[in-house]
This record gives sequence, structure tokens and C-alpha cells, in this order.
Amino acid sequence: MAIKRAHSEIDSRELAIEEFFVNEEPFYVAVADEIELFDSAYRLRLPIMLKGPTGCGKTRFLAHMAWRLSLPLVTIACHEDLTASDLVGRFLLKGHETTWSDGPLSLAVKHGAICYLDEVVEARKDTTVVIHPLTDDRRMLPQEKKGVVLEAHPNFLLVISYNPGYQSVTKDLKQSTRQRFVAIDFNYPPAEKEQAILMSEGGVDRETAVRLVRLGEMVRNLRQHGLEEGVSTRLLVYAAKLISAGHDTRQACTAAVTQAMTDDPEMQETIDEIVSGLF
Ligand code: ADP
Repeated sequence: MAIKRAHSEIDSRELAIEEFFVNEEPFYVAVADEIELFDSAYRLRLPIMLKGPTGCGKTRFLAHMAWRLSLPLVTIACHEDLTASDLVGRFLLKGHETTWSDGPLSLAVKHGAICYLDEVVEARKDTTVVIHPLTDDRRMLPQEKKGVVLEAHPNFLLVISYNPGYQSVTKDLKQSTRQRFVAIDFNYPPAEKEQAILMSEGGVDRETAVRLVRLGEMVRNLRQHGLEEGVSTRLLVYAAKLISAGHDTRQACTAAVTQAMTDDPEMQETIDEIVSGLF
């Protein structure tokens, strides 16, 4: 499944909205009533915050929803150097002429796409502010450098993702931003659903999937003993894929879980012991 990401770097090529449609159904196992909730929020055009730890299915869910709703999905991975111009657009010098180039947010606003700001806390606060007028009744985006204001297409929806786990005081979502979104809470899928995901995504048999899910649960419990975050479904899928590719199970778990999770030798030993107990 190819999900198009909008690059925020200066790109002389104009972005074309057609490239952002999700053509094939992304495999997604619903965990609770998130599909219904998203549907309603979309109908009401309420901006949405997908909340939850890394690798628990937020991005996959959104791709699935974009496909269900037949909407283009413009994804922007936020980082600290992301400027408002990267989102909105800028004048570019082409030969002797300057031409305006829309940024990915403007593209989504104009064409009625879902705009997904992934890991929004990573963006600088002054960048975050540009989304504010899009999140209330105004539904507009000022293109200040161009001196125009875009009115959002009726289909436009803003979605952000946010991991409450590893926010520091200096890098938290401001209340003035977060209180503009309805939140859909995500967590690691319950055992049976995670098993189904590992079988489908990772290509392992039920027995192996059951053990990997157990590994996930046990490693997640280590959070009470100093592990920063639990093991993601994503990493369990990686382990499953390595096993399907013919790697020894323990080796696959060490590579995809133990070493990927931590650099702390004692914690590594603990996780490897769990792996040896299960496989
Ligand atoms: P996030 O955006 O929360 O960091 P992703 O959506 O990228 O995480 O999920 C990571 C991977 O885990 C996906 O690529 C997919 O393989 C798997 N996954 C997690 N949850 C689900 C789910 N509910 N249905 C299907 N696949 C899932």
C-alpha cells in the first residue's frame, strides 16, 4: 500500500492532488468504535486528534478512513524545522520569474483533502498557529506572503496525531491548540485483534502470532520497571515479517524488539529472557 507523503522541502514540481488518493483498501482491524466516531466527526467537519503511542495503528486507520470516504490524504511529517511556509507555500524563483507554489496544507485546503499533521508537537509553535483559523467556523487559511485568504473546500478535514507518552513540558501541545480537536484515543490492539494483524501483516501462523502478542504484553508490562514506552504493534509486525522470511524466531525478536526498543544492557537481557521463555 503506497501512501503518498507530501514533502515539505522546496519542490519545484507542483503537487497534484490526484496523487494523494488511496486507491486500494488499507487493511485495518477496527479496535473499538473509532470508525463510527471518525465518520460522525467528519460529517460534522470537526477537526480530529488521533491520540496514542507510536506504532499502534493511527496512520493506518487514517489511510483506511481516507479510502472509505474517497478523500485524498495529504500527510505531513512534522519536525522542528518545519516552517509555516513549508505548509502554506512560498514564492519560487524560476528563471527570471517568481511563481507561487502551494504547500501541502494549501493543496489539501483547496481540493478538499484530509490533511494529516503527523506528530504535531514536533512542529514549532509558530508553525502550529497557522492551522488555528482552519479549525473553527472560519475554516480558512491565510496565505500571508501572497496576501490572500483561502476558504477551505467543503470536504476539507484537518487531522493531527499526538503521542501523550513522551511529551516533555517544553514540547507539549498547547491547550489553545489541543482544545480545537475531538480526540480519538488509540492504544495497542487487544490480544485477539493484534494476533489477526500479525497473521495478516506479518504472514505468521496463529501459534507464532499468539506468542508474539504475549511477548508484546510482557514487554509492555516492563514500562513499570523503567522501559520508556511499550513495544509497538509495528515492531511486532517487523518481528513477524522476519520470522516469515525464514529467520530464527529468537534472532527475529532480538532484532525487531530487544535491540530496537532499548540500549540499556539490563533491559535488553530482561527482554531476551522473555523471548527465550516464549520461543
Ligand atoms: P502509528 O501511526 O500509530 O505510529 P501505524 O498506523 O503506522 O502506527 O501502525 C504501525 C503498523 O502496525 C501498521 O503499518 C500495521 O502494520 C500495524 N497495525 C497497527 N494497528 C493496526 C490495525 N488496527 N489494523 C491493521 N494494522 C495495524
